[in-house]
Amino acid sequence: MPVLEMRDVEVFYGKVQALRGMSLHVEEGEIVAVLGNNGAGKTTTLATISGLERATSGSIRYQDRDITTARPWTTVADGLVHVPEGRRIFSTMSVLENLQLGGFLVDDKKVVKQRIDHVYDLLPRLAARSSQQGGTLSGGEQQMVAIGRALVADPTMLMLDEPSMGLAPLVVASVMEVIGQINQSGTSVLLVEQNARAALRIADRAYVIASGAVTIEGAAAELSTDKRIVDAYLGA
Ligand code: ATP
Repeated sequence: MPVLEMRDVEVFYGKVQALRGMSLHVEEGEIVAVLGNNGAGKTTTLATISGLERATSGSIRYQDRDITTARPWTTVADGLVHVPEGRRIFSTMSVLENLQLGGFLVDDKKVVKQRIDHVYDLLPRLAARSSQQGGTLSGGEQQMVAIGRALVADPTMLMLDEPSMGLAPLVVASVMEVIGQINQSGTSVLLVEQNARAALRIADRAYVIASGAVTIEGAAAELSTDKRIVDAYLGA
């Protein structure tokens, strides 16, 4: 049984149809990439799974539940955690305070502290900058804070929206490495990316979407040599 399954989902923004029969699934322990150009519907796909946007038709299942109409905070409580596009960390709050926000649904502050310690073990650069204001960090460090904040919510499944955006290639590589480590420790990952090359390197499978629906899907290793993908997304 997949951890997550989206079937034939349609989403509209007013009269604009953003998803036109979007379907995907993520099996336990997988990293699944969703690739596509600007406006293809990648962000809408994640927002709809999270409950931030509403499907007008189709269904979404997470673990053994129908979450098609679930609210964002209930999906987070069940371990389905979203790292939004553009990181959205709080620039005037410290790294530690940003991480603490990830534990907003957890009553036991000792548990939150343990999870933050775990984030600092995984991301020692953040530990060194614990009291620094979020807005003074580099783009890569801010992305790590956004990922760390999601980890404090203890995800079973992590959804990331373009974590490579605006980062230099070496920094992209280290963000992808961290995502790989998180996956190794047992978290399933749905990774939305325009950077197909970086995403295919760590993904097990991938979907290419255009105009709100899947156009190509397959094993990441196969897609990275597929002529259609190389021509359209991987370039020279
Ligand atoms: P990007 O990489 O630019 O974020 P994307 O693949 O994530 O692209 P979406 O942001 O999901 O694509 O957008 C899908 C479609 O929905 C596009 O045609 C976009 O213009 C439209 N759209 C997105 N948000 C809104 C909105 N708030 N109001 C109206 N149309 C929207």
